[in-house]
Amino acid sequence: MDCLFCKIAKKEIPAEIIYEDGHALAFLDIDPRAPGHTMIVSRHHGATILDLPESEIGPVFSAVKKVVDLLKNQLGPDGFTIGINQGLVSGQTVEHLHIHILPRFLGDKGGSIHTTVNNPPKEPLKEIAAKLRKT
Ligand code: AMP
Ligand code: ZN
Repeated sequence: MDCLFCKIAKKEIPAEIIYEDGHALAFLDIDPRAPGHTMIVSRHHGATILDLPESEIGPVFSAVKKVVDLLKNQLGPDGFTIGINQGLVSGQTVEHLHIHILPRFLGDKGGSIHTTVNNPPKEPLKEIAAKLRKT
């Protein structure tokens, strides 16, 4: 399959892999936005979390926890930002599920997840919640 992250998972393309198990692997982002910027990738190919089989959700997030623990112990950050870009509109460039782990350091001048968008809804929260509860 012509997928960059599948190729990295199969070791057809080199990457700085720091953790792997039967369900997921973690490698350093080639264009890091912070020291230790890491990507967790599912072994199962799928573009988004919606494409990941239910049975893989737990194991993939367990790998996220292990890698956060590893980064915390080895690099000593003050915190983390952990996130997924899903869809072109959000900035997703590789169509294989990946979870960004960004170690955060005091004074790194980065923002919170809230700084990625500022598009508050026009409808009242009650209306939105009612719509969502229907499903
Ligand atoms: P996203 O924009 O959320 O799809 O993130 C894709 C990420 O993959 C970007 O942060 C890239 O820097 C990273 N990336 C692209 N190619 C490689 C590669 N060969 N090895 C490691 N990271 C990569
Ligand atoms: Zn893939």
